[in-house]
Amino acid sequence: MTLLKSWVCSANSSDTDFPLNNLPYGVFSTQETEPRCGVAIGNMIFDCQAAEEAGFINFDEGPIFDVPYWNEVMELGPDAWAKLRTRLVSLLTEGVVEQDTLSKMLTPMSSAELHLPLIVAEYTDFYAGRNHATNVGTMFRGAENALPPNWLHIPIGYNGRASSVVVSGTDIRRPWGQLKSVHDKKPHFAPCQRFDFELEIGAIVGTSSDGPVSVCEADDMIFGYVILNDWSARDIQAWEYQPLGPFQAKATATTISPWIVTKAALEPFRCDAPEREFELLPHLKDKGPMLYSIDLVVSLTANGQPPQSIVKTNYREMYYSSAQQLAHHSSAGCPMNSGDLLGSGTISGNSRGECGSMLELSWGGKEPLEIDTGVTRSFLEDGDGIEMTGFSQGNGYKIGFGSCFGTVIKALRDPYAR
Ligand code: CA
Repeated sequence: MTLLKSWVCSANSSDTDFPLNNLPYGVFSTQETEPRCGVAIGNMIFDCQAAEEAGFINFDEGPIFDVPYWNEVMELGPDAWAKLRTRLVSLLTEGVVEQDTLSKMLTPMSSAELHLPLIVAEYTDFYAGRNHATNVGTMFRGAENALPPNWLHIPIGYNGRASSVVVSGTDIRRPWGQLKSVHDKKPHFAPCQRFDFELEIGAIVGTSSDGPVSVCEADDMIFGYVILNDWSARDIQAWEYQPLGPFQAKATATTISPWIVTKAALEPFRCDAPEREFELLPHLKDKGPMLYSIDLVVSLTANGQPPQSIVKTNYREMYYSSAQQLAHHSSAGCPMNSGDLLGSGTISGNSRGECGSMLELSWGGKEPLEIDTGVTRSFLEDGDGIEMTGFSQGNGYKIGFGSCFGTVIKALRDPYAR
């Protein structure tokens, strides 16, 4: 596929995250307007609520864009998603006769505030990157026992909290927690010293299910994808995680990028999962290419220094696709809801500069990361900004995700002070 030309000139550049081929869904507000649904096109946002009110978009079900979230569209299912996308492409294509009227429905992205694009129903996080799991396992259990025995057979996950999912740009306050290192005789309550990011892709479940679903059914249920930073308190996790897994270590915040990139936009970039060491059980088997080639970059802005790229990797490094994770999630009968968010698990390639967390980049803090500006980091410090970006490279165009950004701010002096 090549670049589709739009009458919105900035959408025709080979550099923009948001050409007509992309059309990701978000929620924005301006000084004059309350939050509303919009579509990113070049450096502008097309106002879906205004377009629906003016009769340019019609759903059989009645008005859909009278609410500031995409859940109502998601619930309508794949046929409605395809119909809406076709309609938006036709409205924004070069040469459309209603261009003058439609151009009044554009807002410059620079003057808009972006909000969470959906109401997150529930949030589940997986641990499905083989390099990440191997690195972390090697650090904690030694190379011989790096991967737990179940790892190559099921996508391991835990149930997180939807309430702590925030949109890009939200400051992240360093948490306090119960800590006990191997040198401590007893635990104490203090600010986290090993605060970290995790580079992930989040899958957004569009349609609900009741009972087990197949991998193909699961793939059809997914509405789109975002970049996700699963902020992690490693020292809290080290003390609390056995036997039930992480809890408060992952409870501070999870940041997502503000634009939902649809499965339709990513379709040309599908790729196979890696070769399987053990054949997966039939209900989890790959049914064609279900990962996507998405180049991912993490940049660190250390205390007012210019941003420096510290990680480069690709989503195709995952061992399990979101469809396989969703199928597994449903396999014991768990109903899945429209608006559920599934974190892929940390995405790491096979070299140090491709690792999607500080834990791996500094090898547990033992080999601090040295950055070109002379700064070194084992874990994140107060004032550090972490930005994650990603795109799939097409022929003369990109399918970009926008920015997933957050700044770590100082812990409260005493979180229980009233
Ligand atoms: Ca995670």
